[in-house]
Amino acid sequence: MNTVVSYLPGAAAAPSEIQRVFERQRETAIRLRTSTAQERIMRIQRLYDAVMAHRTQIHEAAYQDFKKPPAEVDLAEIMPVLSEAKQAMRKLKKWMKPQRVMPTQLTLGTSSWIQREPKGRCLIISPWNYNVNLCFSPLVSCIAAGNTAILKPSEMTPHLSALMGKIVRDLYPEDEVALFEGDMSTSTALLELPFDHIFFTGSPAVGKIVMAAAAKHLTSVTLELGGKSPTIIDETANIREAAQTLMWGKYTNNGQTCIAPDYIYVHASKKEEFVAECIKVLETCYGKTMQEQLSTPALARVVNQRHAKRVNGLLTDAKERGARVLFGGEAAEDQCFVQPTLLDNIPDDARIQSEEIFGPLLPIIAYTNLDKILADINAEAKPLALYIWSKHEPTIQKILKQTSAGGTCINHCVVQYVHGNLPFGGVNNSGIGSAHGLHGFLSFSHERAVVRTRFNSAKILYPPHNGFKRKVLELMLKMT
Ligand code: NAD
Repeated sequence: MNTVVSYLPGAAAAPSEIQRVFERQRETAIRLRTSTAQERIMRIQRLYDAVMAHRTQIHEAAYQDFKKPPAEVDLAEIMPVLSEAKQAMRKLKKWMKPQRVMPTQLTLGTSSWIQREPKGRCLIISPWNYNVNLCFSPLVSCIAAGNTAILKPSEMTPHLSALMGKIVRDLYPEDEVALFEGDMSTSTALLELPFDHIFFTGSPAVGKIVMAAAAKHLTSVTLELGGKSPTIIDETANIREAAQTLMWGKYTNNGQTCIAPDYIYVHASKKEEFVAECIKVLETCYGKTMQEQLSTPALARVVNQRHAKRVNGLLTDAKERGARVLFGGEAAEDQCFVQPTLLDNIPDDARIQSEEIFGPLLPIIAYTNLDKILADINAEAKPLALYIWSKHEPTIQKILKQTSAGGTCINHCVVQYVHGNLPFGGVNNSGIGSAHGLHGFLSFSHERAVVRTRFNSAKILYPPHNGFKRKVLELMLKMT
């Protein structure tokens, strides 16, 4: 693709400018509390239309940033935003309806409901790997819930961030939605402010910084983080299907996907067959040699040289400690390129065993004892995703019940992300809270408890507590 992107990266915003816009959003956030479903739907519709209208520019910017293939941009940047927006526009009236609840013993004579109210001024910080999707999809939930938003996309894909800034400025007044470009200094300035909610997507390390900053104002957080996501393939699995699907899940965006399989346990009796199938898929999709892989338009680059060095560092460390390269294994750091690489025989002390890979390296580990690998998984931080490939129901149930993960696919991978009716999120180190559909809407809402009295039965418990009132109390205690 040989096009010139017209939106060049902007400069980081000054803290005073950030403060000014944040102040402007104060009154607007209060006004938006009374916004109707129709008004919110119109604001979401504008985003939907703009993303559609800028499809070609998004392709171009993503290609400029790290040669991301246009088909992947359609599938993993544009479509998720559109479907998040469509779902919200279809269901918003229902989501906004107060939820009636039954009275309890002490509140007989009242009617009660949960009122979903906007949190107020929200901050959304996104990572570079799906910068558009992970900034605009939470924005849909944020607008649906009736909030104002300040967006801080990643500085590592600057062409996309600049384009997103232009889209946002064209669509919304800054007191409703504003976007600030810049690196961690912009985030740091934003994190000083007493937002009502912060929705952060990124690494667990930065997630801790965000949560510590939020704690100063007791701001609620949704943290969509990462980590090492394991896959288990047992001896009953369809090996060909597993290889095709897992190579797709892993090498989309060249392994730079939070829910991509980080490493694979395959039953020892099936390992050879599985590796052969994986190699077949990789050769067909991306080519056999490094030259072919460098020239295919189907493979995104590692995002920048720093990360190419980091990923190649993990590879070199593993090789030096005795890991065996089954496929690939070379890199051209100056071209931000590391070959799609399959590894085995990785020693326990190799860094790749403990660090999130977030790149095109895939360790494949043979196992014979399921209990042992479940214990190994449980000894690590809870993953964002855990994938199971098996036809044996007791094995599937055993893995599901004995482990914990943000999400799981059985005989599939990564599609838990695109299922708009499921909560998407991690657990502890891989995240706190959920995104998507109703779950995203609720993340940006406060569930307010409302009790309206028709007949005040609690009066019977007001002091003084003697005679008849004590008897009622005794009776109530027995009934509780
Ligand atoms: P990152 O944590 O380095 O950066 C994310 C955002 O935080 C960026 O906008 C960045 O500018 C900002 N930031 C960086 N350092 C900061 C600091 N010290 N203080 C405040 N803000 C700071 O993550 P990344 O490299 O952009 O993305 C990769 C990580 O994100 C991986 O761990 C991946 O698993 C995770 N991820 C998670 C999801 C999910 O949905 N759970 C999705 C995509 C990526």
